[in-house]
Amino acid sequence: MELIVQKFGGTSLSDEQGRYHVLRHIIREYEAGLNIVVVVSAMGRSGEPYATDSLLELVRHNGNSLPSRERDLLLSCGELISATVLCSLLHAKGFSSVVLTGGQAGIMTDDRFGSARIIDIKQHKMRRQLEEGKIVIVTGFQGMTTDGEMTTLGRGGSDTTATAVGAALNADIVDIYTDVDGILTADPRWVSDAKPLAAVSYEEICNMAQNGAKVIHPRAVEIAMKAGIPIRVRSTFSEGEGTLVTHTQALRNKGIWFDRTVTGLAHVRGVTQLGVINHDGLADLQLRVFRAMARHEISVDFINVMPTGVHYTVSEDDTPMALQLLQGLGFEPHIRKGCAKVSVIGGGMNGEPGVMAVIVEALTNSSIPILQSADSNTTIWVLISENDLAEALQALHTAFGLHLT
Ligand code: ADP
Ligand code: ASP
Ligand code: MG
Repeated sequence: MELIVQKFGGTSLSDEQGRYHVLRHIIREYEAGLNIVVVVSAMGRSGEPYATDSLLELVRHNGNSLPSRERDLLLSCGELISATVLCSLLHAKGFSSVVLTGGQAGIMTDDRFGSARIIDIKQHKMRRQLEEGKIVIVTGFQGMTTDGEMTTLGRGGSDTTATAVGAALNADIVDIYTDVDGILTADPRWVSDAKPLAAVSYEEICNMAQNGAKVIHPRAVEIAMKAGIPIRVRSTFSEGEGTLVTHTQALRNKGIWFDRTVTGLAHVRGVTQLGVINHDGLADLQLRVFRAMARHEISVDFINVMPTGVHYTVSEDDTPMALQLLQGLGFEPHIRKGCAKVSVIGGGMNGEPGVMAVIVEALTNSSIPILQSADSNTTIWVLISENDLAEALQALHTAFGLHLT
């Protein structure tokens, strides 16, 4: 019998109307005779009563005093609330369902509280409940260490629960239900004419997700890719098929792979550009700078190393520490806060001439300075001021004809 995993995000579960649609999707598949594991996130977004951010807010004023083990206990409440509410709705309609916490579902993790990694999934309990004909509801975003401690998987981790459970149970598909029509050519909150993509490869969406497209967690995609389980990202609120994510070859075989140079745009805000100029002819300036960053686990990006000095970026959060370290080394760094990293992504841009020319032309026509750039065979990144972000995304989206997708 076919087995599917259906994951519902916070916005899908936050009010009665959303939960009505969630039930509709579950019941449709159940009545079609499928085995179903439902993975849920905490309800709603920041400010709503049981959202993950709202739970964090309960202790924020205490000076972040809650130890990470207890913080995970607090965070795991959100998913438990949505799972039990959904269970009660299913029972009210006469469908037998059971709620399993991450630990009860057999999701074993290491003990990195707040960003735990799944090390194993013991699937017997989920299997037994499915064999009894029940709809199994698993609380997303959480697991358990081998000595019984509750852990959480890092923000956005319910997606990871869904694909990890899908991989463990060898599901036919993992459906990620959310508040948009699938994976779009750009974040619709920033680009009003962003269009849903019918299909993307694992590599493309992984790339988009790693570069800031929050529609799915990159770790979730990596797990599905490794197991070869297709994902469908689709809307809770419509009947659309959404976006199919699988291997490029599988998409080609289905006749739904489109050779395209650029697939979509992604962006990250809150980036700081740092520059250290080599006034004193120091032979080891570069080594000193990057060794200091590495020792303090500061992740660096947009690295540009020249005989005259170095330029690189760090996140807003890491900026004070990075500055302190550079000043401690006796440097007077140039600093530009409030930057954004825009990624132009496409599996088909490899060896295709002219992509950078289109980017430069679009941004120049909008009088948007490029502060730095970098490229790989599937992505071109540009660093710009955050103030220019909306205009830059729109200009690039139009220049690559993504609105015609
Ligand atoms: P959920 O609560 O369902 O997990 P998220 O907020 O985590 O929802 O992810 C869905 C959001 O991702 C959308 O509302 C959208 O604003 C954002 N997003 C960013 N980039 C993209 C993209 N390329 N395609 C679709 N959505 C995107
Ligand atoms: N509720 C968790 C979060 O907000 C996990 C998730 O939604 O995927 O990060
Ligand atoms: Mg999410």
